[in-house]
Amino acid sequence: MSVTWYNAEKRFSSSGITPEATAYFKKDCVGRWLEYLALAGGSLLKPWLLNILACPICKEHPLSVHIIQAESNVLKESTSLAKELVIHFKKGVLSEPSLKPIHNLSSNKDVDKWLAAARTAFAGLAKQKPTPATMQPLVDFFHRLEVLEGVLRCEKCGRFYPIGSRIVGVPELLPDTQRDKEADLAFLKKHKDVLPEKLLSGSKPFTLKSKE
Ligand SMILES: [Zn+2]
Repeated sequence: MSVTWYNAEKRFSSSGITPEATAYFKKDCVGRWLEYLALAGGSLLKPWLLNILACPICKEHPLSVHIIQAESNVLKESTSLAKELVIHFKKGVLSEPSLKPIHNLSSNKDVDKWLAAARTAFAGLAKQKPTPATMQPLVDFFHRLEVLEGVLRCEKCGRFYPIGSRIVGVPELLPDTQRDKEADLAFLKKHKDVLPEKLLSGSKPFTLKSKE
């Protein structure tokens, strides 16, 4: 566990985080972030993180996500998470735009179901006061899902970032100089049948030639 936590912290510390999240979490951002991950059950990518992730290179937010494999979990207790979401909403940490560029390429139907419910719930927040009850559909999408494998992409600069390439569920938001070209291309190749052509052959810093 400690190795995973260390790796996660090392990776996350070099990644981009939205100004809203930085202001809310202040200096201890990474620590609080990991605390929330722990609350949610581990260091895997929970869709909640999409609220605060930005491209580490050009700082664009939101990042698009292609979900290749996802797991649904049962939460023992969800009220505390719903209460946290009310606070996150009031502090501007939650990002409605981050719910848009999400593409489910997996066979897990909960992704579509919970995403649709989360979008509806978020749209409703403009008209009604957020309460733990109104946040419940967001808890399902943000905290019950775990993205085991997938790809994050910055649609501004075109960079892609694997999720679960080396450690299942861990996003690799690394600067170009710290990336492993061979591993990143092998990851794209492994999933070339499900990922869109634009992502495979039109991304930075590496692309997969269509004949490979
Ligand atoms: Zn970018």
